[in-house]
Amino acid sequence: MPLQVFDKAFVPFLEEATIIGKIKEMAAQLKNDYNGKKPLFIAILNGSFMFASDLFKELDIEAEICFIKLASYKGTKSSGQVITAIGLDMDIKDRHVIILEDIIDTGKTLHTFLPQLINQQPASLKVAVLLDKPEPRKFEVPIEYRCFVIPNKFVLGYGLDYDGLGRNIREIYQLQEA
Ligand code: 5GP
Ligand code: MG
Repeated sequence: MPLQVFDKAFVPFLEEATIIGKIKEMAAQLKNDYNGKKPLFIAILNGSFMFASDLFKELDIEAEICFIKLASYKGTKSSGQVITAIGLDMDIKDRHVIILEDIIDTGKTLHTFLPQLINQQPASLKVAVLLDKPEPRKFEVPIEYRCFVIPNKFVLGYGLDYDGLGRNIREIYQLQEA
C-alpha cells in the first residue's frame, strides 16, 4: 500500500529491521575504530535524530554526543552561502569527532560546514551517514561510514521528512514512480 503524504505517494524502501541491522554493523566498526579515544559525535538535526539515537545505543564504549542545527543564509558575494552551527557548545579541539547526518545529497551542507570544524583543530574528523545518495553530488564530501547507498529518489521516514511530516515512520519510504 502506498503511503500518501500531502500530494505525493511513497512506497516502502527499507524495512526497520534492515535499517537497524546496518546500524549495528556501523556501530561495530565505530567501536573498533574509536574504543579508548572517547569520541564526540555531533548529530545534525532534525533529520538525524532517530539514526543518532539508534546508533548511539549500540555504542557501548566511552563516547559523547551533542546535537546541532545548521542554519544557512546568503553571505556576501565573495563568501557565498554561509552555514552556522546552532548549539555547538562543546570544545572540539583535540577531540575525535564524528558527524552524524541522515542523508548526503548534493553535499553542499557538509562541504560548507566541515571546514569550519577543521578550523577548530579536532584530533580527527569523520562523517557517518545513514543514506548516501551519490548521484546528485555536486560538492565533495569525504564519507567514512555509510549504512546505505541509495538511488536518486526522494525518501522519507526514520527521521526524514517531507514538508515536516513522515519523521515518525519506522521504515524508509521512497517516492513512487510517476
Ligand atoms: P545536501 O546539502 O547534501 O544536498 O543536503 C542534505 C540535506 O538535504 C539532508 O540533510 C536532508 O535534510 C535533505 N535531503 C536531501 N535528500 C533528501 C531526501 O531524499 N529526503 C529528505 N527527506 N531529505 C533530503
Ligand atoms: Mg539533514
